[in-house]
Amino acid sequence: MSKSSIYGLTLEKLTVWLMEHGHKKFRAQQVWDWLYRKRVTSFSEMTNVNKECLQLLEEHFVIHTLKQHVKQESADGTVKFLFKLQDGNLIETVLMRHKYGLSVCVTTQVGCNIGCSFCASGLLKKSRDLSSGEIVEQIMNVQHHLDEAGQDERVSHIVVMGIGEPFDNFDNLIDFLEIMKDQKGLAIGARHITVSTSGLSDKIYEFADLKMQVNLAISLHAPNNELRSRIMKINRAIPIEKLMQAIDYYIEKTNRRITLEYILLRDVNDQRETAQELADLIGDRRRLTYVNLIPYNPVDEHSQYQRSEKESVLAFYDTLKKNGINCVIRQEHGTDIDAACGQLRSKQIKQAQGK
Ligand code: SF4
Repeated sequence: MSKSSIYGLTLEKLTVWLMEHGHKKFRAQQVWDWLYRKRVTSFSEMTNVNKECLQLLEEHFVIHTLKQHVKQESADGTVKFLFKLQDGNLIETVLMRHKYGLSVCVTTQVGCNIGCSFCASGLLKKSRDLSSGEIVEQIMNVQHHLDEAGQDERVSHIVVMGIGEPFDNFDNLIDFLEIMKDQKGLAIGARHITVSTSGLSDKIYEFADLKMQVNLAISLHAPNNELRSRIMKINRAIPIEKLMQAIDYYIEKTNRRITLEYILLRDVNDQRETAQELADLIGDRRRLTYVNLIPYNPVDEHSQYQRSEKESVLAFYDTLKKNGINCVIRQEHGTDIDAACGQLRSKQIKQAQGK
């Protein structure tokens, strides 16, 4: 049986596990420090941890289960990693450089079942959830890549927006977030972490109740059910009214701002009237709502969608602004590499299949 990654344990779980195996609480703290502060890549480097404890850890865990398969670097500093999991599946992780720091976009599932009609990732159905360790490892691999460059750079922001629906892998997602936030470890501020969901309303309520201070983004992409159901299959099961109720609960419970993601597709959802409809839908929620307008990256598999004209993007933005809606047009990263989410992975899989 393959061993699991030690990165899958929160500090609390590691402490309980070590104590159940006869070790003192402080050992967990030491191991944690080696993993996340000194960032070693083997147990044998944990020089202040006694032999028995190291042996026990070696017997049950490994540090790394992911292998770097492909790495693409863009002229703007974006780096796309394709990692191979122990079972041979491939996942994508992206490092992006911003003025405010370095952010990493992580994947939470192998494939995705949500079936958004514009998405390169959704073409490959979900085969399984990632473990919490596999999600943490993506961040650690990127951090090791930065450590090796010797520039003393740290991953400062995380976006859970890669392949998969994070709320469909809820428990592992929550452990991952706890590990990232841990003050004795990477200590990435909750406000620097954003989780993006396609709108699984039940999980939005659960997430709100946890009061984690982590940012929430909703992939909305359309202001009415007819259009949204065409773009996102999930809307047939969870229509906009139900989603907006969950959003209202989240805002009321957390008093935190919510981001609405909106991919602009030419002549599909990018008209001025649609912008007005979106502004009307947001209505009184505008104080705690932020719209992120995303220019679409065309993918071969979805030739029915094209990128919006620049004028349409600006007109859409303008209409929202005139209605007092906070919004921004998302800056693009890695346009000279396989920029669309899931594009690198689907390309590699096709190559492997000889397509
Ligand atoms: S956009 Fe996200 S939720 Fe939708 S199919 Fe793609 S990976 Fe899944």
